[in-house]
Amino acid sequence: MARARKGPLIDPWGSELPEDYVRIIEHFGLEIFTDDLLEALPRPNKLMRRKIVFCHRDLKVIADAIREHKPFYVLTGIMPSAEKLHLGTRMVIENFRYFQEAGAKEAYLLVADLEAVATRGLTLQEARRRALEFYIPAYIALGIDPGKTKFYFQSENRTVLRLMTRFSAKVTMAEMEAIYGQLTPGKVVGALLDAADILYPQVREKMPGVIPVGIDQDPHIRLTRDLVKRTRSEFGFTAPASVYHKFTPSLDGSFKMSKSKPESCIWLPEDPASTERKIWKALTGGRSSLAEQRAKGGQPEKCVVFELFKQHLVEDDRELDQIYEECRSGARICGECKTYATELMREFMEDFKARLEEARSMVKDLEFVQE
Ligand code: SF4
Repeated sequence: MARARKGPLIDPWGSELPEDYVRIIEHFGLEIFTDDLLEALPRPNKLMRRKIVFCHRDLKVIADAIREHKPFYVLTGIMPSAEKLHLGTRMVIENFRYFQEAGAKEAYLLVADLEAVATRGLTLQEARRRALEFYIPAYIALGIDPGKTKFYFQSENRTVLRLMTRFSAKVTMAEMEAIYGQLTPGKVVGALLDAADILYPQVREKMPGVIPVGIDQDPHIRLTRDLVKRTRSEFGFTAPASVYHKFTPSLDGSFKMSKSKPESCIWLPEDPASTERKIWKALTGGRSSLAEQRAKGGQPEKCVVFELFKQHLVEDDRELDQIYEECRSGARICGECKTYATELMREFMEDFKARLEEARSMVKDLEFVQE
């Protein structure tokens, strides 16, 4: 484990952001998501096909498990910090669902209620209320299969708490600061809880697991993988695999959609009139005049609206290719794209709201693991 931090810091609590994906891949020893790996995964989802999933750790282990019908698990967590999600969160759920549908023996959705107390100052009751009233229904509405998912609250899982306590004796503050930068006691608690969550399914059954995350969560994966090595003789855990997607950009064109810029962020849920207003103000790769755009074509690579199509709104690859080609050739103008993106977003939001209501009625019947 590194003793001093050098190079880029990626911070799961969101105060610093990665600016260069390539630099991060190289610096942290991540593996590029290659065409070979894409081919090894059955029916890859659109995030994988479009290389929005761009790097991973040990994903080949999971691809092999899928192909050979061996057991593996997928796990993700809810941090109930606000009462809304933003659009970017949907990608974690899309990847979670992919592995769930690809044959994961176990799929875990945990509520990081203790971490919310330690790092966000919530009470346990408030964290629980938010999880039950909004987050869990939203995750179900976005596609996780509740019938094939195990749910738990950190505060009700003594196995997680015991693991976390054991891990606290296996790492120093200097080592944690090399991974996370400056830490508060609450963040130390949160990080150790995350490592315990990630490995908890292996206490129940020895098998590899995959954690779909945004790249800013990689510090938790690194800490966990280090702890696997340090506790090998005691627990014999397998290092978690992970899969990382790029961020959804902010509508103003900056690197990451964020709750801190509400006018450049699409919320889940959000009123369609509001998303329409924001999409019409979004940065595009259009030229300064219609004549110039017709002559030179647009620049979809620089266009946030195109990125919305690519990451969220257009499922069909041929349709996405067509939008790209029409933009590059000048056959398409930005107003057409914004009108279309607005329509697709309206359909998506209406569908999401209907599913959210349906999912809320299911929550009372869910079983939560208690140990
Ligand atoms: Fe973006 Fe569409 Fe304009 Fe091209 S035509 S730059 S894809 S909004």
